[in-house]
Amino acid sequence: MSLDVATTSLLSPAEILRWYADMGVDIAIDEAPHDRFAQSEALQQSAVAARPTPAEDTPRPPRALPSRQNPAPLRPVAVSSFAQASIATAQDMARAAPDLESLRVALQAFEGCALKATATNLVFADGNPKARLMLVGEAPGADEDRQGLPFIGSSGRLLDKMLAAIGLDRTLVYIANIIPWRPPGNRTPSPQEVALCLPFIARQIELVNPGILVCLGGSPAKALLGIKDGIMQARGKWFDYACEGRNIRALAALHPAYLLRATAHKRLAWNDWREVRKALDEGA
Ligand code: URA
Repeated sequence: MSLDVATTSLLSPAEILRWYADMGVDIAIDEAPHDRFAQSEALQQSAVAARPTPAEDTPRPPRALPSRQNPAPLRPVAVSSFAQASIATAQDMARAAPDLESLRVALQAFEGCALKATATNLVFADGNPKARLMLVGEAPGADEDRQGLPFIGSSGRLLDKMLAAIGLDRTLVYIANIIPWRPPGNRTPSPQEVALCLPFIARQIELVNPGILVCLGGSPAKALLGIKDGIMQARGKWFDYACEGRNIRALAALHPAYLLRATAHKRLAWNDWREVRKALDEGA
């Protein structure tokens, strides 16, 4: 997001700054704007494509990264060698983590995602790592960034209410995000940022090994389940998330932050959470 040169020349520096603040820009990262979305969805796919084959991957630790059951379509685009290298590093670091604490330490040490530089805290997870239900959101907001815990702001409070409605609380679920650092201004993470963080959340799911996975919102549903439709089409549907030779039942659900804005859709969300309750009662 930026002003064109002609407009900039008509404004004072204070007016330019005010315009950027009004547009939600709360930090300056680079001199030139980047169209992260144009840099391609296919970076996510390159993360998958860049996974080492077994022959390249020796010695191999006991558990491999999960493959996706519903991969997004491959579209050839240029991927910078720097991004490729960072994705490969993320894969190596994630794969080498034998448990959740090692994975948290690995993520803390990962320097490949620029979001780390602007975030206050790593937001790794909350809840019970032995839970049968794992929820994956998009990325932390300001409250989460301050406290280092996912879903503790207004959308987290709504999430807690929805969980309570089906008899659950944070002692009975495990919560993480596809992106563990707050994107500046709460913007949607770029495909490149998702691709860089994907190996870590994939490993996190593998280590928690839940019976049910719920993707909260379009970003995690797209990244983990490969949905191509919008979240309104995908919500309420069950997918298979292939993990360690088995399929985890995965539901796409509406994000609580969206429900805070579109309150009429809470009815749809209630149907989704009832599905989750039913699956848990069936022993998933
Ligand atoms: N929204 C998310 O997707 N995750 C959080 O942790 C908070 C808000």
